[in-house]
Amino acid sequence: LVSREVKQEDSQVRVGDLTLGGAAIHVIAGPCSVESREQIISTAQAVKKAGATMLRGGAFKPRTSPYEFQGLKGDGLALLAEARKETGLLVTTEVKDTATLAAVADHTDILQVGARNMQNFSLLEAVGETRKPVLLKRGISATIKELLMAAEYIVARGNTQVILCERGIRTFENMTRNTLDLNAVPMLKALTHLPVFVDPSHGIGVRKAVPAMMRAAVAAGADGLIVEVHPDPPRAKSDGFQSLDFSEFEKAMGEVRAIAAAM
Ligand code: PEP
Ligand code: MN
Repeated sequence: LVSREVKQEDSQVRVGDLTLGGAAIHVIAGPCSVESREQIISTAQAVKKAGATMLRGGAFKPRTSPYEFQGLKGDGLALLAEARKETGLLVTTEVKDTATLAAVADHTDILQVGARNMQNFSLLEAVGETRKPVLLKRGISATIKELLMAAEYIVARGNTQVILCERGIRTFENMTRNTLDLNAVPMLKALTHLPVFVDPSHGIGVRKAVPAMMRAAVAAGADGLIVEVHPDPPRAKSDGFQSLDFSEFEKAMGEVRAIAAAM
């Protein structure tokens, strides 16, 4: 169902009054995790001003270690709803499991399925039963084919509103957190009609290097980006080492616009 052979034209995903996968590049930005009212609202205002069209923020966080910050959970969802109301930005947050799906779906405009859950087939089937747009992230060791098959699980249940997201894969290189596989962008654009987004933050995992990969992703043909932005990255409760501050994000957005305009 997701193959270009079945449908030649690009599919667009409608989120509120936004069209993802259309002519415009969309940038989803915000903190890795929602930490406080002040943090999420100030970030929402800053990323909106810089040109982002959606806000991201994790509430249920699938952390590598059980001793790391696990997110504000239900309180995080409520704060996202406040930031949405305050700024008018639509929001995306991760759905970690089927048990919390209904609560998360009630508070988000896009359901984010994380890399660690790309082959959680029960979760894929459950989000496939909803009619919420889904941002499906590539698993850390998943092939392009496996990503497409994971999307197929969702679409097969009747939810056609799927956006694919390249977010870096694990390779022998350990200077960076992951290896952002920009090869996946033109490959996916050729293989599927679904919109393709890129997450340069998790993809490289090095704050100073994120803007270059934002530019590269757009030049490679991505339909949009999802970027981590925090008011004070060194003090973030998760992923501060890869989060841009407000001025870094604003500058990077100007460069992204110039590249998008030249294409
Ligand atoms: C995130 O977006 O904060 C996240 C956990 O991403 P991923 O699932 O790609 O690791
Ligand atoms: Mn993160």
